[in-house]
Amino acid sequence: MSSKLKDKIAFVTGAASGIGKAIAEIYAREGAKVAIADVNMAAAQATAEELKAGGASAMAVAADVTDEAQVNAAVDAVVKAWGGVDILVSNAGVQIVHPLEEFPFAEWKKMLAIHLDGAFLTTKACLPHMYASGRGGSIIYMGSVHSKEASMLKAPYVTAKHGLIGLAKTIAKEGGRKGVRANVICPGFVRTPLVDKQIPEQAKALNMSEADIIQKVMLKETVDGEFTTVADVAEVALLFASFPSNALTGQSLVVSHGWFMQ
Ligand code: NAD
Repeated sequence: MSSKLKDKIAFVTGAASGIGKAIAEIYAREGAKVAIADVNMAAAQATAEELKAGGASAMAVAADVTDEAQVNAAVDAVVKAWGGVDILVSNAGVQIVHPLEEFPFAEWKKMLAIHLDGAFLTTKACLPHMYASGRGGSIIYMGSVHSKEASMLKAPYVTAKHGLIGLAKTIAKEGGRKGVRANVICPGFVRTPLVDKQIPEQAKALNMSEADIIQKVMLKETVDGEFTTVADVAEVALLFASFPSNALTGQSLVVSHGWFMQ
């Protein structure tokens, strides 16, 4: 184990799968105590057990990020166990695709609730502990290339992911003098269950083969036709969490094999 995050306490949402799980693993490797917060408690517990078996401190906490009482209870449980929260990764997310004119209003609201209410509620629950500790903290929102760029069929996802940049900039300003940084990671396509589910759905919606969805839609604009990996995204999450000063705040960093260049 190395120690870029020695004794830091991290609360990672959606950490039972995919990108969140990889972030939990790299934080644990770097010496942090990691709370695996997820709506899927069985998977969260399994992830926490894996981390503990590797010698890390980890705990699973049940939280649907759209539910204020559950989020507050999960953060309280972590603070009670470990004494605070230094790093929040608001990562939990889902994808639902439809053309706008067919998008059920309930599904639009569900998407905004998970991606935006979830970011708001977890931030609201963790910030007072970061302020009170005197150590400040690092808040990381899982955006997407879709925080900067649009794709067809993804209206609420693109809207919510753009919104996270506004939230991060606001928290960067509010938290700056108290040592709290806020940043957004903007990955390109990463092969996780979230993306595996989209491939057949998009193939159907766009009347294309699954291979064409991957090469001609998802990876078309990359510089090398490659998927971004969970490890790539976790490295950026480590950079934002471990950065030693307030110089790196209010930023959004795209990690996408050049799909989007700013
Ligand atoms: P994933 O499906 O592998 O993992 C998502 C996790 O979030 C799951 O463990 C799930 O149980 C949890 N979750 C879902 N709804 C929740 C809720 N209401 N409360 C708490 N937990 C909930 O997905 P992933 O690809 O790892 O995605 C993680 C984040 O990365 C999402 O915000 C997603 O939008 C973003 N992202 C993914 C990609 C990609 O290509 N995979 C690209 C850019 C951004």
